[in-house]
Amino acid sequence: MEKLLSTSVRYLKGIGPKRAKSFNKAGISTIEDLLYYFPRRYEDRTNFLAISKLQAGQHQTIKARVLARGERKSFRRRGFSIVEAAVGDGTGKLFCVWFNQPYLADYFKVGTTLVLYGKTEEYAGRLQMSSPEFEIISGDADESLNIGRIVPVYSLPEGLTQRSMRQCVKSALDEYLPGIGDFLPYDARSRNSFLNLAKSIINIHFPDNLELKKQAYQRLAFEEFFLFQLPLALRKLKKKEKLGIAHKVDGPLAEGFIARLPFKLTAAQERVIAEIKEDMARPQAMQRLLQGDVGSGKTVVATIASLLAVQGGYQAAFMAPTEVLARQHYDKISHQVTRSPGHQDREVKIILLTSGATQKEKDRIYQEIKQGKVDLVIGTHSLLEQGVQFKNLGLVVIDEQHKFGVGQRALLPQKGPNPDVLIMTATPIPRTLAITLYGDLDISVISELPAGRLPVKTLHFSEKDKLPAYNIAKEQLRQGHQAYIVYPVIEESYALDIAGAKKMHAQLAAGEFKEFRLGLIHGRLKQKEQDRVMLKFKERELDALVSTTVLEVGIDIANATCMIVEHSERFGLAQLHQLRGRVGRGLAESFCLLISDAQTQEARARLAAMVKYHDGFQIAEEDLRIRGPGEFFGRRQHGLTELKIANPLTQMQLLKLAREEAAKLVQLDPRLEARPNGLLREKLLQRFPEYDKLMVVG
Ligand code: ADP
Ligand code: MG
Repeated sequence: MEKLLSTSVRYLKGIGPKRAKSFNKAGISTIEDLLYYFPRRYEDRTNFLAISKLQAGQHQTIKARVLARGERKSFRRRGFSIVEAAVGDGTGKLFCVWFNQPYLADYFKVGTTLVLYGKTEEYAGRLQMSSPEFEIISGDADESLNIGRIVPVYSLPEGLTQRSMRQCVKSALDEYLPGIGDFLPYDARSRNSFLNLAKSIINIHFPDNLELKKQAYQRLAFEEFFLFQLPLALRKLKKKEKLGIAHKVDGPLAEGFIARLPFKLTAAQERVIAEIKEDMARPQAMQRLLQGDVGSGKTVVATIASLLAVQGGYQAAFMAPTEVLARQHYDKISHQVTRSPGHQDREVKIILLTSGATQKEKDRIYQEIKQGKVDLVIGTHSLLEQGVQFKNLGLVVIDEQHKFGVGQRALLPQKGPNPDVLIMTATPIPRTLAITLYGDLDISVISELPAGRLPVKTLHFSEKDKLPAYNIAKEQLRQGHQAYIVYPVIEESYALDIAGAKKMHAQLAAGEFKEFRLGLIHGRLKQKEQDRVMLKFKERELDALVSTTVLEVGIDIANATCMIVEHSERFGLAQLHQLRGRVGRGLAESFCLLISDAQTQEARARLAAMVKYHDGFQIAEEDLRIRGPGEFFGRRQHGLTELKIANPLTQMQLLKLAREEAAKLVQLDPRLEARPNGLLREKLLQRFPEYDKLMVVG
């Protein structure tokens, strides 16, 4: 009988409850997880380099015996211990040192054989490795996993050694790999000469040679891309099959609105509106992603799209990721729309639906939506609730789409007869990537900011020298402008950080910012309270706002010209860019003052990028470079966090191939019903449970 890959690692030979626990902590709970826990690097231990051949400045692997060892305290730093070992292999001698790990002294008995990996340096006239990775090679045990082959080196779960880890993986391979089915379609495999699954998994852990390792990577990376592209291909196909709404895009409502705007649309906005109009006029449903930097004016475009739907008698729904944002969109859009004095043929009815509403209010709103008395509904996730049913939903706008899961995003359009969908994001994605990542969407970009905007002056201060930052902020306040002082919130220590923001508010209000009116806002405050504070700030009853990342998305107050970001190393680059987008929204010069004693190289790189770049696309590219695609797209972007070894940036070709193969497959078997595709279907649903509906419903 075939053994199930979904079996818990607990049942694997050599894994007791304790190990199972540390495996779980490392994200490994099933055998499959373990098999897909790929090595961090490899060592070719078929031939070891002779010590006499070591070259300074390079990472190399040697095998040698311990000749002598010692332990001493550092003279320069108290309480700092150094373990030293002299090792030799017959061709020469090498010194190894480890700092502050006194227990190591016990490991290195004279005569012990070690495999050492590290960077060789010349130090005090001799060759030395500092803190090399090491493995003790046993004289008795079977060392065929650890010596005389290309050996995997893993990021170790707590409490495991490389040797025990290799043993666990080996057991899993031996026990579970025979008879494992390959879920990739045979055609796709043979067309591209990919290794089969079993052979790939073996060779990614214990490659017979480097060529096979490469082929294993190729196949497994393809697999990741393929599983990621498949839902997109399915969705695209499904969209094509169904007829949508051909909107009547020429009419007085939208035109009147544009004519009465207090500003002139930018050329980029005009172009994007033309693209949207063309889409909406067609009988197929629009599936468009609208990218634009913070402040580029996406909301106006979305409003115009909504009016295009409304003037033909359809309803529009506008979903935003947070209550604050939904409310702000509501305020702004209703203000802009109803202010239009020349529009007499019909009043556009706009309504706000948030989760804060009482059941009674909700029921009333549901009724109005259902009866078609409401033209535009703006809200949060609350729009997805069962009770929300439209009379005639013709357009769905989803703001800041990366805040919603793929599944959630698909839900709202299901409330209408295949409505047009406009998805907006202020997280710019390099274009090459976007095309493939959003394979099911067409893409529009607002590539310019409204005229007259100055780039936000961005400066970095150390914790110790942050006074000048406060002074800049105070100067702005004295001129009648307003400021934000942002404090990070990290999920794990949520409560703790809120206390920080609170404490800081009290401290600043009594100290540095004594002469000003200081507000405090954070996610723990009741919605009403948040709104009250925001409103006060908007009405200029507050000069500065101490806040957490609730500010991150979309808040739009033009008089706010200064932002201080405390502990800015704790924010991601995209987040910092979003935050900075809260200032520089008017015509006055604005400041973003980053305070940080960034320790890690990554954090320093982020801050440097913020100082250097202002354009969201450049920042996105930089972010992608620093973090890699998986992290870049964040937790919610289901598909991409699954990418462990596939890299869309360096493997564009393979990604394209996966996309083509996915398209071919769904042409042949759109619901993955054919028997040979059974395993694939299972695999896909395991990753994207929400696609069940997509495949079953015709
Ligand atoms: P985004 O949603 O892309 O961050 P918004 O639509 O909120 O940007 O626009 C930012 C601000 O710029 C708003 O106050 C909006 O009214 C204003 N705005 C939008 N388009 C223009 C334009 N063409 N010229 C001047 N101001 C504009
Ligand atoms: Mg916006």
